[in-house]
Amino acid sequence: MDRQAPTARDALAARIAAAADLCVQCGACLPHCPTYRLARDEAESPRGRIALARALAEGRLAPEPRLAGHIDRCLGCRACEAVCPSEVPYGALLDQTRALLAPRRPPGAAVRALRRVAASPRLAAAAAALLAAARTAGLLRLAAALEGPLPGLARLSRQAPRPGRPPRPGRHPPHGTARGRVQLFTGCIARHAQAPALHAAVAVLRRLGYEVHVPAAQRCCGALHAHGGDPAGAAALAAANLRAFAGDDPVLFLDSGCGAQLVEYGRWHPEGETLARRARELCAFLAEAAWPQPAARHEARIALHTPCTHRRVLRDPEAGRRLLARIPGLEVVPLADNAFCCGAAGEYVLTHADWAEALRAPKIEALAAAAPDAVATTNIGCRLHLAAGLAARGLAVPVLHPVEILARALAPPARTAEGGL
Ligand code: SF4
Ligand code: SF4
Ligand code: SF4
Repeated sequence: MDRQAPTARDALAARIAAAADLCVQCGACLPHCPTYRLARDEAESPRGRIALARALAEGRLAPEPRLAGHIDRCLGCRACEAVCPSEVPYGALLDQTRALLAPRRPPGAAVRALRRVAASPRLAAAAAALLAAARTAGLLRLAAALEGPLPGLARLSRQAPRPGRPPRPGRHPPHGTARGRVQLFTGCIARHAQAPALHAAVAVLRRLGYEVHVPAAQRCCGALHAHGGDPAGAAALAAANLRAFAGDDPVLFLDSGCGAQLVEYGRWHPEGETLARRARELCAFLAEAAWPQPAARHEARIALHTPCTHRRVLRDPEAGRRLLARIPGLEVVPLADNAFCCGAAGEYVLTHADWAEALRAPKIEALAAAAPDAVATTNIGCRLHLAAGLAARGLAVPVLHPVEILARALAPPARTAEGGL
């Protein structure tokens, strides 16, 4: 049964048609589209998908599986939007089209479970503990070998940094002279999968004189819901975060995927702009901050991956490079093919594992040739996906968040299980 009231469906359809109307079908976006580059099929291109979305909205095409498949195979990387001379708001159009399709095509059990885990801090903590135990017991290796219904999950989880305890909620006082206060957005799955990076962020910020507040009531940003056809779920999570991040302090985030959602909260909640305006990406913040003393010399060669969300939504693809440039001795080289999505793309890596691997393959080959000491990236999904690809290729190259490299340069660390630099 169609759960959208006719008026809500009509309003959604009208917005899709209006956005699609802007497309003049010039094709300028096609060479920038990763799925078109892979498939060489108009239906896997932005122009093709816009035409399908419009036909769906106008009732000329039915929401049948073939059409939905073309919409689902879109990564949401927004490379097309960035180059479109007609300024088609492709990201919004994609979210709206998926919302239009959602009542006829509820997500599978695994995707529903993932979204539920993301939305519930308690479930996320339980899932992290379960994954850690399963990895220790070798069960994930077995699951990957058996190629279950979501083979990407087992492959990814095996390469994830060992899930750890995130920084405790509450206030973390600065070291030395206080320079200001910040709030820290920790993400949902990232809170556990990237716990070492979050601890590094807290340590660096405190060392630079910031009091760090980790709000206990914060929730998932809502990106999975927003891009998966569940605008009500995204709005509810935005509302929870608006309550959790009260005040005027900057809200720092490590993961560009989370940040891309936070900076667009105005799309999901009437008050969303108030939080969107305060959201700051950590690398950009640290690159501009005053440091009481310079980082120690740190000889290493870093391949820097720029996630699509950092490049196209935050629109600051150089932030990681600017931060790492402040560490003497580091050689930072952009990862080849950086302008194209690595294939992680939120749920995509789980629901379209083969496409995700094909999109990642050229980057892994480039890394095999470049042989850096580490890869740096600012998004947890990309991190897990790239780490899985490197491991599958037999390359022992750690994938880190830039703040982990900075933390090591500010205080030379003991080698970690993920590999030293
Ligand atoms: S570049 Fe813009 S106007 Fe041209 S085909 Fe792509 S979406 Fe349409
Ligand atoms: S969002 Fe990315 S994958 Fe989707 S149509 Fe645009 S360029 Fe292609
Ligand atoms: S972007 Fe992904 S990891 Fe970050 S909070 Fe949103 S759903 Fe969770």
